[in-house]
Amino acid sequence: MIKKLLKTSLAFIMSVFMMMAITPLIPSAFADEIPGPLDEQEQTVPAVPQISGVTCLSDGTVRVFWAAAENAESYQVYRSSSASGSFVPVAETPDTVYTDRYAKVNMNYYYKVCSIRTVQTEEGEITLKSDLCAARASGPVKLQYVRLENIYKAVYNRFKLKWSKSPQATGYYVYRQSPGAAFKKIATIKTVSGLTYTDKSFLCNTRYTYKIIAYYSKGNTLVKSSASNSLSQKSKYVGKQTLNKCIYYFGKDYKCYRKVNGRKKMICLTYDDGPAARTKTILATLKKYDQAATFFVVGSRVSKYKSTIKKAYRQGCEIGNHTYSHPMLTSCSYSKIKSQIIRTKRAVKRITGSTPKVMRPPYGAFNRTVRSAVGTPLIYWSVDTRDWATRSSRTTIRRVLNGARNGSIVLMHDSQSSSATASKTIIPKLVKKGYQLVTISEMAELRSGMKKGKVYYKFYK
Ligand SMILES: [Zn+2]
Repeated sequence: MIKKLLKTSLAFIMSVFMMMAITPLIPSAFADEIPGPLDEQEQTVPAVPQISGVTCLSDGTVRVFWAAAENAESYQVYRSSSASGSFVPVAETPDTVYTDRYAKVNMNYYYKVCSIRTVQTEEGEITLKSDLCAARASGPVKLQYVRLENIYKAVYNRFKLKWSKSPQATGYYVYRQSPGAAFKKIATIKTVSGLTYTDKSFLCNTRYTYKIIAYYSKGNTLVKSSASNSLSQKSKYVGKQTLNKCIYYFGKDYKCYRKVNGRKKMICLTYDDGPAARTKTILATLKKYDQAATFFVVGSRVSKYKSTIKKAYRQGCEIGNHTYSHPMLTSCSYSKIKSQIIRTKRAVKRITGSTPKVMRPPYGAFNRTVRSAVGTPLIYWSVDTRDWATRSSRTTIRRVLNGARNGSIVLMHDSQSSSATASKTIIPKLVKKGYQLVTISEMAELRSGMKKGKVYYKFYK
């Protein structure tokens, strides 16, 4: 029994000795490399103290900033559309700022952030995440503004505007600024894909500035973006332009030298049977008061008075067709009427470069054949001065002034010197009464228009 106990004790002592002999063989450096348990501090990462700001920017993004957490290597951003809703991770970033480009217009979002750190353990690399910080709200998300990229002339006097897309926009407003005025909305583009607009309705030789505002519309909600950059353009234009019931004429210096306002009183003075020696007197009076008239010329007389015709045309007067040799057209054949009209057309075009657009039949005589042969509107009159019969300036003046109405067509003859004299009184008196003295074509354009083969007596409003 004792013997057995001794044997066991001996074995125990032996094993202790053996242990003591082996232990000093393990190098102390090797012991340090064995991963030990992490202490309490190393197993956690401090939370983000707070979200310091959430800003909705005018480019449609939301910027979230937060205070850095100690030892954090990166941050995870969480988002929810309600304060009590579930927060979903939307991004991970090493920075302390995040730009949310996926926020929906007009929505309110809530953001939270946690800090992240990666550590080594016995099991390998593990990612430590802190608790989420307190949520912070964004306020309604803005609609991204657009960039007005280009304005170019699409057609002669039209501007085409092009801008960039605002991803969540349901449409765009086009704003235009005229010189010395405020920006005014001129168009609403109701399609998402509408990224262009053609402006046809502007006065030429004028600088305009444009900008675009995107909008988002759903139910009763309307969100507008901030305005785009603005671009300016000026169109250079020579010739006639009609805009908003007004006719403008621009010279080679791009300046408007004549304007007719269709909303104001107008009257047409017409002179037949010229050109004649006294036509120049009438032209001088018209020029003095910045007014225009229509001259129904006899084709056979035109070549003798080239400079008068040229002058009349350059002054803005209209040259109408009064046949070639002043025959009674109702007794002419269809082909004779045609040739009477065509010969005068050619004679006038050779001088002015432009074909007469209106005609007046000699003696006011017309029938169906005449109407179909002339190929232009036929112009009659509503005020007949009978100046050829009276040859009295006083009578002509009285008849014109008594008969004048807004839209009247007055018949006189520039072949009559009494009418040239009468015009010196008639023209300033009508101007003083508020009339604009206009050509037949101007009156027709601003009133009811004209058709070929139709007879016009007046253009009353
Ligand atoms: Zn005549």
